[in-house]
Amino acid sequence: MLIDGTVYLDYQAATPVDPRVIEVMTASMATDFANPSSDDHSLGWRARRSVEQARATIADVWGALAEEITFTSGATEANNIAVLGGALAAPSERRRLLVSAIEHKAVLEAAYAAERHGCAVEIIPVGADGIVDLAALRRSLDDTVAVVSVMAVNNETGIVQPVRQVADLAAQFGAFFHCDATQAPLAGEIDLFAWGVDAASFSSHKLYGPKGVGALYLSPDRPWTPRSLTFGGGQEGGVRPGTLPTPLCGGFAAAVDIMRREGEAERARVASLRDDFVAALQALDARFKLTAADAPRHPGNAHMTLCGVDAADLLVRLQPAVAASLGSACTSGVIGSSHVLSAMGLSDEEAGSCLRFCLGRFSDASQVAQAVEAIQAALKGAGNPTKASAA
Ligand code: PMP
Repeated sequence: MLIDGTVYLDYQAATPVDPRVIEVMTASMATDFANPSSDDHSLGWRARRSVEQARATIADVWGALAEEITFTSGATEANNIAVLGGALAAPSERRRLLVSAIEHKAVLEAAYAAERHGCAVEIIPVGADGIVDLAALRRSLDDTVAVVSVMAVNNETGIVQPVRQVADLAAQFGAFFHCDATQAPLAGEIDLFAWGVDAASFSSHKLYGPKGVGALYLSPDRPWTPRSLTFGGGQEGGVRPGTLPTPLCGGFAAAVDIMRREGEAERARVASLRDDFVAALQALDARFKLTAADAPRHPGNAHMTLCGVDAADLLVRLQPAVAASLGSACTSGVIGSSHVLSAMGLSDEEAGSCLRFCLGRFSDASQVAQAVEAIQAALKGAGNPTKASAA
């Protein structure tokens, strides 16, 4: 499945919508148009049934109960409700937020927004392996902490975090523990109950579903309920009011259900294809290094440094052949070094040589070969001798 001939290797930014999901959504769009909150007629009940079926499927696959799932517009909104709303709802003696250094901006900025309400944000470091420093977290925890937020899988490096251990530490001190699990569904099985989190955020467009819908999981054992950040008709228990987008909820659930059936085999296939891709790049140019190669990582992720090469320049040269992304963040149009990579101890120069490739469901061996060929050509064009041409 190539659009405009481009090999798509940016699955952590967004996944293509699975054609089976599109089918479900198309049918739902035609028939589930009534407002799912319209209690006065059968078409409203029908739309409500579709929403509730979607909620039940998502909950079931991820080890939760339907009432523990709140639909949101995506993970950004879910993170904001959990982190800022979680801090605002905390008892008055709890005013500190502990967030890991590698969180997505939707967690970091939501935490900093709590500073305007008298809270203080503390950043928990990660090691050179990109894994959150549990000893540092332990040292910072006490009963003045409102919220702890540590993600499940990093969106740049793909490195998997020790969610259960963080949950245990936070629980010891009665803090509200939120996990941004946006990148987790493609990385492994999810069992929210076993994770022991108070809240978790998800996004449908990271798992072959549509954009514009996500979920906030809230455990029944949470120390308190986050304060709503928006006000309206009281839908979703008032945590996230607004008319529910029935076809998006149905598409999200269909995508989650496909993961339940095919996830395990898919992860193995994608990881093996990713390993072949990494090996082919390293055969092409020995400077290609996998970031924190020994850390547990997302099966599709190949976050790599290509020492001495300007990654931004290389990506431009790769257009339109290959879609990948930089290891550096672009905020408000200003390109700065990635906060994730600098937290791992990379210099700005090293971070400027990082590329994030991520393979997924529709990647195959011929696309990998095509991408490697395009990268070889782009490297030559960039005046960086590959092993072959240098020999
Ligand atoms: N958290 C993480 C870890 C992400 O990767 C993303 C998407 N880049 C988000 C949050 C934001 O998700 P959404 O696009 O659904 O708002």
